[in-house]
Amino acid sequence: MFPQSVFPDTAQVNTEGQLVIGGCNTLDLASEFGTPVYILDEQTLRSRCRSFVSEFQKRHPATQVAYASKAYINPALARIFQEEGLGLDVVSGGELAIARSVDFPLENVYFHGNNKTPEELSEAVEHGIGYVVVDSFHELNLLNSIADAAGITQDVLIRVSPGVDPHTHVYTTTGILDSKFGFSIQTGHAADAVRQALAASNLNLRGLHFHLGSPIFELEPYALATEFVLRFAAQFREEGLNLQDFSPGGGFAISYTRDQEPPEIAAYAETITATMKATCDELGMTTPRLIIEPGRSIIGPAGVALYRVGAIKEIPGVRKYVSVDGGMGDNIRPALYQATYEVVVANRINEPEAEKVTIAGKYCESGDLLASDVMLPELASGDLIAIPATGAYCPSMASNYNLNPRPPMVLVNNGQSRLIRRRESYQDMMHVDVV
Ligand SMILES: *Cc1c(COP(=O)(O)O)cnc(C)c1O
Repeated sequence: MFPQSVFPDTAQVNTEGQLVIGGCNTLDLASEFGTPVYILDEQTLRSRCRSFVSEFQKRHPATQVAYASKAYINPALARIFQEEGLGLDVVSGGELAIARSVDFPLENVYFHGNNKTPEELSEAVEHGIGYVVVDSFHELNLLNSIADAAGITQDVLIRVSPGVDPHTHVYTTTGILDSKFGFSIQTGHAADAVRQALAASNLNLRGLHFHLGSPIFELEPYALATEFVLRFAAQFREEGLNLQDFSPGGGFAISYTRDQEPPEIAAYAETITATMKATCDELGMTTPRLIIEPGRSIIGPAGVALYRVGAIKEIPGVRKYVSVDGGMGDNIRPALYQATYEVVVANRINEPEAEKVTIAGKYCESGDLLASDVMLPELASGDLIAIPATGAYCPSMASNYNLNPRPPMVLVNNGQSRLIRRRESYQDMMHVDVV
């Protein structure tokens, strides 16, 4: 059965058993743009943006949805997020440069990261970034002097680490005590940071931020951490902390495989807003503006990777390897996080499963496997493989390892396709080399 739940909203199987996305036949897309290629369904992308905005704003009107750029950003997409009324999270000067390239309103941009460089902070301040989310004592001092030199007062949030385990992969767990991110509440560092920020001459402390990790399939970590951080904030009222902004970060889960059922966006919204209201009421605090930062859950479900099958190798009694023309250079997640994906044969979707295979990439690493032990129809060279739920953290983590050019990205909508990033050329890869 076609795993509709992990594909974009518009995915269909036509009468010939071929995969269609956004009204475009994937076989045609593969011939026109080549493989590997990333297809993004515009309708799914925009509908995820709208769901986040509406589900949060109907419960708490003062909510800003800031898209976490690191899931994937480029200028065409930044325009779409702006059209949908979202803000942006950036974690580097490069991501900030993309926002600036399309005149994204910088007052709606949040700068995150545990070690922003002096150059990055200066650029951000100089261009009038809305918020810097301060992550260390080093940054507190550095940013204060940069803002001082620029003659401005910079709005900041402080990133705290609430010590709540979201039960996800250890590499993507960020809000526990042993983490490189944020000021721990437990150790007293968060309290010191709040006091120092309040005392800083050129910083305006508007509120607190936390981000627990990703993907988080449970609601409880959000409720626990929201209550804990608001209680923490309340302790500093007398010392001058007026909590105008509060951000519980991102990390909202998506289905990668048909058996995964993450909470609906509405359920995350209900948990966060209800906990925030109840806690603020109890503490006699005005409810702050809410900033939520989905990345994966907006772009992940909109993306589908297409690959062409090449070499097939069967080791009798051991395993059958089916190699495709992409791999860890465009999707590092299986190698990095043991991530699992659904795989379909885009040119013969309705054919029954016939054998168990491992889909291997073309990179010179034994760990370059996109999916292990998946049941598929018998494959032949030239078949087209589709891997859904690849919009987030695949193209954004892509590399030129083995000097394979990074794949193009095509936006599809209503039977129209639009190239929003072309395939890299050999020249592109050598562009920065100096002989
Ligand atoms: C990565 C990150 C996010 C987004 O996480 P997703 O899982 O993509 O939603 C949000 N906020 C911060 C601070 C992050 O580092």
